[in-house]
Amino acid sequence: MYTDLQLYIDGEWLNGAGRKSEEVLNPATGKVLASLPHATQADLDRALDAAEKGFAVWRATSAYDRAKVLRKAADLLRERTEHVAKVMTQEQGKPFPESRAEVIGTADIIDWMAEEGRRAYGRIVPGRSKNIRQLVLQEPVGVVAGFSPWNFPTLTPVRKVAGALAAGCSIILKAAEETPGSAVELVRCFHDAGLPKGVLNLVFGVPADVSQHLIGSDVVKKISFTGSVPVGKLLAGLAAKGMKKATMELGGHSPVVVFGDADPEKTADTIAAFKYRNAGQVCISPTRFYVQEGVYDRFLTRFTEYARNIKLGDGLEKGTTMGPLANPRRLDAMEAIVNDAKSRGGKIVTGGKRHGNQGYFFEPTVITDVPDDSKIMTEEPFGPVAPIVRFKTFDDVVERANSLPFGLAAYAFTTSTQTATMIGDALQSGMVGVNSVAISTPETPFGGIKESGYGSEGGIEGLEAYTNRKFISQG
Ligand code: NAD
Repeated sequence: MYTDLQLYIDGEWLNGAGRKSEEVLNPATGKVLASLPHATQADLDRALDAAEKGFAVWRATSAYDRAKVLRKAADLLRERTEHVAKVMTQEQGKPFPESRAEVIGTADIIDWMAEEGRRAYGRIVPGRSKNIRQLVLQEPVGVVAGFSPWNFPTLTPVRKVAGALAAGCSIILKAAEETPGSAVELVRCFHDAGLPKGVLNLVFGVPADVSQHLIGSDVVKKISFTGSVPVGKLLAGLAAKGMKKATMELGGHSPVVVFGDADPEKTADTIAAFKYRNAGQVCISPTRFYVQEGVYDRFLTRFTEYARNIKLGDGLEKGTTMGPLANPRRLDAMEAIVNDAKSRGGKIVTGGKRHGNQGYFFEPTVITDVPDDSKIMTEEPFGPVAPIVRFKTFDDVVERANSLPFGLAAYAFTTSTQTATMIGDALQSGMVGVNSVAISTPETPFGGIKESGYGSEGGIEGLEAYTNRKFISQG
């Protein structure tokens, strides 16, 4: 029911023979699903060589033909949705309907990039003299190294893979070792769609060793990483040594501002559902709730009701609305956050502890009365914990919302058009949802500012990230 875990290098599937390996666990049970082979140094060198050769073939393929392969991969993924979603839920824990939605969203991103690749337009700039023709062209960057985390096991890899392939680049993907099966299934769709060998390669291993080897190679011209801020800074440093382009999608700590004129119940329903999606292990998850005094009590009551009604369980069981956390590290992190909040006068309104005696379950949690300098208000929780606090004025809440070094996502709810415009302008964030949580679509740029990183995935920007501008002045 799970999948055969392999490396994919130079168009070939490679098993564990003679390689080191690690166990992949089901976070709902703690039981072993399969053994994951690690790439050796020789495997990584082979992947680099294959990607270099693959790039020569792929960049010479027309954008029209590249799009056909990408669209075919998207169609195959859609046909395989049920299977891929089952693999994802087993290794990551999210409820099956969430996995299914992720797989469909992944196929949509491939389709979008397939089409955008055909629109990698340049421009002609009028010259200063009659005999000069000035051309601005977009060219593929070259070989890309992509590093993706475990919280969205197909959606995050595909932003890198589809963007790179649509632009005419080749890519070596190191997907998360905790959720490798989904990445294997994704890559299989490209293989079965007829992607030439070497254009896409999939490796696993000790993350620090693999990233150092790949980023340190002259073959790699661009890196794209999604993960935590500390690791992002490390990889950005490695990229800088080789003056390589980089896209960094790092953590956040998204403020939610609920103004007194918003409908507290409707807002609580919308934002609570978004908060507990994927057990809060989402980089754009709403994580700090500032509610204006007049609607605070009603918002809190409804939000808490929502949290209490969540059904925790194995994501493959019918009726489960929240699965386990992806690994034991997250459980420890949740306990540290809750203990810190309690020691600073925070009140646990619901939840606050581990759940059950197997797997990595943590109760949907609501905390109130926490000071702004507590752990939960300053460090990305990446879990099902929601701190809800009061605010008085617009200026007060803007200052508190913007006070952290992160700037990935932010949300605000109001019925006033004037307040909506003002808060959209005031929040320091790469993405802002005003009366909306729809901030991640294939068609729109996705990325942060401040320590949340740089560059965008998605939208036309997600393609441009894999191209260089070349200016030709032709006399
Ligand atoms: P971590 O910092 O150990 O790892 C984060 C990701 O980076 C993982 O996928 C890991 O495999 C990878 N990684 C770690 N060291 C690496 C290296 N030297 N080279 C290449 N890749 C490396 O954190 P974690 O315990 O897995 O997750 C906890 C934190 O990570 C969360 O609190 C959250 O802030 C962040 N995170 C963010 C995202 C996101 O979507 N932005 C996703 C997952 C985790």
